[in-house]
Parts: sequence; C-alpha cells; structure tokens
Amino acid sequence: MTERPPHHGPDGRFRIPWPLEVADQRSGGSIFRWQWERMRNRRAPNPPPEQVPVVPHAVAMPRAGDEIRVTWVGHASFLVQAGGLNLLTDPHWSRRASPSQRIGPARFQEPGIPFDELPPVDAVLLSHDHYDHLDRATVERLRDRFGAGLRWITPLAYRAWFGDLGVTNVTELDWWGETKIGEIAVTCAPAQHWTRRRLKEMNDRLWASYALRLADGRGIYFGGDSGYFRGYEEIGRRLGPFDVVMLPIGAYDPRWFMAPAHMNPEEAVRAYRELGGRGAFVAMHWGTFRLTDEDPLEPPVRTRAAWADARLSERDLHILRHGETLVVEG
Ligand code: ZN
Ligand code: ZN
Repeated sequence: MTERPPHHGPDGRFRIPWPLEVADQRSGGSIFRWQWERMRNRRAPNPPPEQVPVVPHAVAMPRAGDEIRVTWVGHASFLVQAGGLNLLTDPHWSRRASPSQRIGPARFQEPGIPFDELPPVDAVLLSHDHYDHLDRATVERLRDRFGAGLRWITPLAYRAWFGDLGVTNVTELDWWGETKIGEIAVTCAPAQHWTRRRLKEMNDRLWASYALRLADGRGIYFGGDSGYFRGYEEIGRRLGPFDVVMLPIGAYDPRWFMAPAHMNPEEAVRAYRELGGRGAFVAMHWGTFRLTDEDPLEPPVRTRAAWADARLSERDLHILRHGETLVVEG
C-alpha cells in the first residue's frame, strides 16, 4: 500500500506540512478586512509604462548553445533556454490576470517577448493554478501554435483542466517527483502557497516550485509563488546548488494577510542563500500585475538593499527589465 503524501488532508485536499495553514488566512473575514483597509489607505499609483520598460530581448534563435539564457516575459513568465531546450515558466501573454478580460489586474506593459517571436517551445513548467500563473487564453495560444502535443509539467491534479482544452501531454508531479525533458532532469519541489480558481475550489490542486539539473551539472531553480518557509534549506540540500535562481520579490503587503503565501524581498534573499544559490538571483513576480498593496516600484529597491546587507556580489543580482535576457556562459 502506498502511503498518502503528507500534504494530502483526510478530505483529499492538499495541505501544507509546515505549521502555517495558508487556507486559514483566506477566510471571508480576512478578505473583507483586507479590502476595507485597501479602501481606507491611500496606495501608490500604478507605474507608468516607462518606469517598468520593455527592452529588446536577446532570445537565441532557435536555441541557445552552451550558455543559459533566461528572458523575463513578465511576472512569473520566463523563457529559459538551456541544455539545448526552450522552456517556458508560468506563461502569461494576456492583458489581465483574471478570469475575465474585462475586469481584474491589467498588465502595466506588453509582454517582454511578443508571442509571435517565441522560438519553438519544448515544454512548459507550471507552478500552480492562480490566474496570474495559469492563463487559459495563453494555454490555448500555445496549443494552437505548437500543437496539442506540447508538453506541460505540472504539480498534481491538473490533467483534467488541461484535458478540457485538448491539451493531453501533461506530466503531473508530486513534490520530490522527477521527470526528464530531453537531457534536463526536472524535480518538482515544495513551495508554501495555495490554489484556487473557482470559489468552491480550495487547494484541490497542488502548487510547487521546480529544480532543473542540466547534463553539464548546472542547476536552475524556479520558485513559483511562495511564502518564505523552512523548506528552502531542504530543497537546497536535496536539489542544490543552483546557478540560476528565479524567486518572487513582489505581492507581499499587507504582511498580516500575505506573509504565509508571498515572501518579501528580504525573505527572497534569505531563500536564495538557503537554497544554495551560487550564481544569478533573478527577480520575478513584480512590476507586471498589481495584486497587492505595496508600491509596485518598491520590490526592486528593497531587494537591492537586502542583497547589499547580505554582502552578496552585485553582479549576481539580476532585476531584469521586461524582455531583458540574462546570459550565463557555459
Ligand atoms: Zn499564487
Ligand atoms: Zn502569483
């Protein structure tokens, strides 16, 4: 008999094995208090596009050589060119991170790579089902462009959702589960977060981060969405070290509500160290959609300060602009 993984509760839903129960923070009362505070407190305005500019990308066509190329499309979407493959993370090319394209958070500017300029994509890594990470229209565009056989790597319980869109090449992984994309070993790793797309769903699907190991030994980590948690040390120990670490630095205020599910810049720098980051820190999850209450331009400022406080090398910190490509030579 196989044992239930620790993150399945008795009701079959996913639970976090760490002390914080994020789901408890999502009660109606908490959401009401957050929205009430939002109405009373004046917030910084949305940044004009020139403050979060799109710059020309340096995507290798059709594929990179020995170098690793990471291009920020925006939010949690990257094109990762490594190991002779082109991978996307949490791809989002739509105007809004929302169930409706009429209301909901709209992007501050265009995606860093125009959709039509994408090179052939070999596989997509998905961290979880929130609308700023899993965008139905983008899934359909990728299906239409690259075929229904385009491979998706997801945490547990996504196959049916993709199947409804005619996307069938889905590899579901539990935490610590492994698969291969070409020569790249992919391990699904924990994160401290939650999932929900519809009102009645709550943690019906798993959330995750991913660790990639190239054939030449280099490591890449994609953090997805996560609060700071003690799992980073374990991920570093089991799957590190990492030459490229993509971590979220935005969507953290107010702390009383967001801390379990979204780390702040100081925590992101701490996570990088605990993961065994030995190269590039690549910032994500800021400057694209306004989801929470902090000034949208604050995350990079605080990240740079936390980086300096930790006496880490300035050349390893990469707060990319939209479309900017980081090149890590092989
Ligand atoms: Zn999320
Ligand atoms: Zn998110």
